Parts: sequence; structure tokens; C-alpha cells
Amino acid sequence: MAEKVLIFDTTLRDGEQSPGASLNKQEKLIIARQLAKLNVDIIEAGFPVSSNDDFEAVKQIAMQIKGPVICGLARTIKKDIDRTWEAVKYSDKPRIHVFVATSKIHMDKKLKKTEQEIIEMIKEMIAYAKSLCPDIEFSPEDASRTDAGFMIKAIETAIKSGATTINIPDTVGYAEPEEFGKRIKLVLEKLKDLIIKKNVVISVHCHNDLGNAVANSLAAVRAGARQVECTINGIGERAGNCALEEVVMNLETRKDYFNLETNINIKEIFKTSKIVSELTNLEVQRNKAIVGRNAFAHEAGIHQHGMIKDKSTYEIMVPEDVGWLGESFVIGKHSGKNAIEKILKENGYDFEEAKIREITKKLKELADIKKDILKKDILEIANNLNKKTG
Ligand SMILES: [Zn+2]
Repeated sequence: MAEKVLIFDTTLRDGEQSPGASLNKQEKLIIARQLAKLNVDIIEAGFPVSSNDDFEAVKQIAMQIKGPVICGLARTIKKDIDRTWEAVKYSDKPRIHVFVATSKIHMDKKLKKTEQEIIEMIKEMIAYAKSLCPDIEFSPEDASRTDAGFMIKAIETAIKSGATTINIPDTVGYAEPEEFGKRIKLVLEKLKDLIIKKNVVISVHCHNDLGNAVANSLAAVRAGARQVECTINGIGERAGNCALEEVVMNLETRKDYFNLETNINIKEIFKTSKIVSELTNLEVQRNKAIVGRNAFAHEAGIHQHGMIKDKSTYEIMVPEDVGWLGESFVIGKHSGKNAIEKILKENGYDFEEAKIREITKKLKELADIKKDILKKDILEIANNLNKKTG
């Protein structure tokens, strides 16, 4: 059987840090519930020390969402680790993700710490986190710009102190695929015995500043990484993160090349993309791979001719694989009023608060009978209401 690549979704943490996106607790729960349906292995639900709202959201997700590991982020600071543990401990499968910068520029300019001080912090804080939670992940931030020797030393310290997942981030999106693959290979070679003995998973977290996030993640997987950190629609800081749907569909479509599997229920991809886009207000670019409106549209006459004869002439995946529902699909039963209001506005309806609430209520009733609510359902209800009031 093919080996597994774990999918670590950070839509609710890194993705939520996208400029322009912000999610309330209710919206985060809707997304987390959908991520569980998508069957991601790990949900990074937030950065609990950053605000009370974020703490509450992570706590609620840990209490309510079953299936995936629920993870929270923490710096190598006791207060962060305590706060994260307070939030994730309600999950059946809690994880604390501890990070500290290891590149010279970050250590000198941001942390003002020496290499030795950083090593001490890792040793102490990973051991402390481990005393609370059995599942600890460690990230040397800005790893791709960290001196290779020091990076290995930091990772070795983290594993010896109790980390069982080691995440190598390309924090600033600087790496090139071949080079990044080599860095992963180096870690696996240098620390081979320790990694095997402690059953450590090597993970990657790539940013898309140069458009390489997916390619870098796949190069790392080829080199032996077995966890990929990603977000729905590739949202995240600046140019975003590695897109979950792209990494998963690469592994799926090119099984002949990778010979690896994920646990993802790919039929839920399209729906998840829609929900995240609606709730974050971050539109998916039309030509985006896998989930863009045009991803499966064939305009050119010569293509259409081929498609009519045999779909496989130009199509390497079929839209149904990823649960494509066309343009009309909107949202499920747990959707909030805001998403509905936005659709109404986009379609020229300017209802007052009470009416929107009435429409939302009607849609929820409809969602009890019908699995998915389509845009046309919303507009139909709005139309009827308009007629009634004349
Ligand atoms: Zn990031």
C-alpha cells in the first residue's frame, strides 16, 4: 500500500491572517466542521494567545469537532504554551505547535538572541509543552534561510526534548523546489536514526511569494516529507500558502509519479473552497487550478471538438472528482447571515435587517430538507418576499 502524506490545514490560523480576511467564532466553527468532512488529518485552529476571540474559537473547535487532530500555535514562551494547552486540551487529539525563528536575520533583528540562547529556549519550552500534551510539533521559523548546520542542531534539540512532528517552513516564500527538496533530504539523512527511533514526521509549510508554494511542498514530499501544511484556496499571509486542493490533486492525479496517498475526501474539495471563499470574503481567482470558475471550462473550438469526442483529450481530472457543483452552489445549513446578505447585495437586493433574518430562517428550514442550498434558492425566496411586500 502507498505511504500516507498527512494534510495539516492552517486555513483558520495562517489563512485567517490574510489581509482582508477575518472570521468570527461562528464562521470558524462552520469551516472547521467542513474541514472535518474533507477529512484533513490536522486542523490548526488558531493562535490562542493572540486574542480572547481566537482563544475561544480554538477552544470551541477542540470541544466540538471530532476526527482531526486539533492544533494551536505557540511561541517558545511559557504563557503561549499554557494558553494554547488551555484551548486545545478539550480535543480527543490535541497538539501544540511551538515555533521559534532560527535564521540569522530573525535571531539578530527580531529576537535579539544568540544561537545558544535559542537552543536553550527550544530545549526548555518543548520539554514544558510535552509535559502538558503528548503531541508536539516544532517549527524553526524561516528555516529555508537558516544556516543548515544550525537548523539541524535546533531540530535535533526539539526531537530530543519531545517533538514528534518537525515542520520546516519556507516562511518568506524564498525557496526553489530543487533546493528545498535537498534541505528536507539533508534533515532526513543527518538525523536518520533519531527520526526513526522517535517516529518523527517531517512536515513542510511553504509560502507563495514567488509562486512556488505547491511546487516546493511537492519537492519536499518527493524528498521524504510526510506532512504538508496548507490552506483552502491557498489563502494566507501576503501571497498566501500552499493550496490544499492543488497539493492533494497532484498526489491524486499523478499517483503514478508520487505513489503516495492522502486521507482527503476529494469530493468535498469544491464545497470547502466555496464556504471558505464566502466566509472570508476572499474571492477565488477565475483561473485558479482545481477550484476556479474556469478550471474545467473549455472555450477554444478545437478543445471543444476534442472534448465532445472524448473528454480525456483535454481533461486530466473530471469536475465531479472534486465535487464540482457549477457556479450556483452557495452554502449549507450552518451558514451565517453575513454570507447570505452578501449574495443578496451582489444581486441587487437591499433588505433591512429583519428581512435578511427572515430569509436566513427560511433557508435554514430548506436546508433541513435539501442537502445544499444554491444561489437560486436564495434569490427565489428573496423574490417571493419582494412580491409579498410589493
Ligand atoms: Zn505561514
